[in-house]
Amino acid sequence: MGKRNLLNPRIAGIPPSETLGIAALAKKLAAEGRKVCDFSAGEPDFDTPDHIKESAVNALKNGKTKYTPAAGLPELRSAIAKKLKKDNDLTYEPRQIVVSNGAKHSLFNVILTICREGDEVIIPGPWWLSYPEMVKIAGARPVYVYAPESKGFKPESGDFERAVTSRTKAIILNSPCNPSGIVYTRDELKAIAAIAVRHDLFVVADEIYESLVYDGATHVSLASFGRKIYDRTITVNGFSKAWSMTGWRMGYLAAAPAVADAVTAFQSHSTSAPNTFAQYGAVAAIEGTGSDVAGMVSAFAERRAVMYRRLTSIEGITCVKPMGAFYMFPNVSGFGISAAEFAKRLLEQQAVAVVPGGAFGGEGNIRLSYACGMDDIREGMDRLEKFVKSL
Ligand code: PMP
Ligand code: GLU
Repeated sequence: MGKRNLLNPRIAGIPPSETLGIAALAKKLAAEGRKVCDFSAGEPDFDTPDHIKESAVNALKNGKTKYTPAAGLPELRSAIAKKLKKDNDLTYEPRQIVVSNGAKHSLFNVILTICREGDEVIIPGPWWLSYPEMVKIAGARPVYVYAPESKGFKPESGDFERAVTSRTKAIILNSPCNPSGIVYTRDELKAIAAIAVRHDLFVVADEIYESLVYDGATHVSLASFGRKIYDRTITVNGFSKAWSMTGWRMGYLAAAPAVADAVTAFQSHSTSAPNTFAQYGAVAAIEGTGSDVAGMVSAFAERRAVMYRRLTSIEGITCVKPMGAFYMFPNVSGFGISAAEFAKRLLEQQAVAVVPGGAFGGEGNIRLSYACGMDDIREGMDRLEKFVKSL
């Protein structure tokens, strides 16, 4: 490049996704022959259930190899509408649903669609690390409402209320939450919904971990609390986590018609609809019996129990008990090194991959995913214990 930096500063200032970066590093070490315990990316170790794969294969064989409409395959949008009614008590017409290349893409689409330069977007923390970057790319400003461990990582409604200004455009709510695993209760969600209605805000409700809840916790969809909050909520969900379909890149959003139409127009000029035969696989996922999801959830529940018991038995480590998703966000600030240094040395010395908490808002924390095999969890916890003793 010449003397002038020709890159768009809004993009040039964006760090690459640390979850994806560390996951790639862990995979590289494993390919070099090291036995890595990989707790980095939130990627279930299960294979995609067979009936889903078969549906995509049949679609390919039957010539489903052309574009679908920009907002997605009509059959899939109908199946999603039915699912939202049945599981989430949400009434959406298929035309209010836009299918995209993963929930990440749905989130990015909607953030770019609703945010203007100078808008503010409230992000409760700990947060999923891609939200702030998406908001910044849109020219808006993330406003963080961080709840520390002492508050169970759960901001109160008053914290949200105090963050609202005349420039606030939206709140991004992620329950169950990546990285903390917290699940908002119905009453907590109602209080946040009331704030959004009172201040005329959008809420982006990222419900991608909805089926992964434990110990009797329940997931409630924010948009189900009545017309006023329904109209301003964009419900985002996807297939990666519940059906172990990370590589398929299938996600969707459901919103008021004007929002869905705008997102569709945007998508029609940027990526067009997602992959056609992957969409047929998604239809099979959503129309399945749910037994595949239930099997994976019970495996996650067992892994969660083991990882939580082992982690919290290590002297100096504390952890808020996660009620959903498949992550733990323990505090490692008591060892005299930063969480970033802790994660780096843990990978170098013990080949255990975790993500430092800074990008999620938790400077003294690390994030561990338990979407991996039980043997890796046991071995990884042994290594972590050894590592901590060496500090
Ligand atoms: N939201 C959250 C909170 C996530 O953790 C992820 C991680 N994959 C996504 C959205 C996006 O998932 P995908 O793009 O694979 O559907
Ligand atoms: N969402 C997962 C995670 O947080 C996958 C990686 C990513 O999309 O960032 O680990």
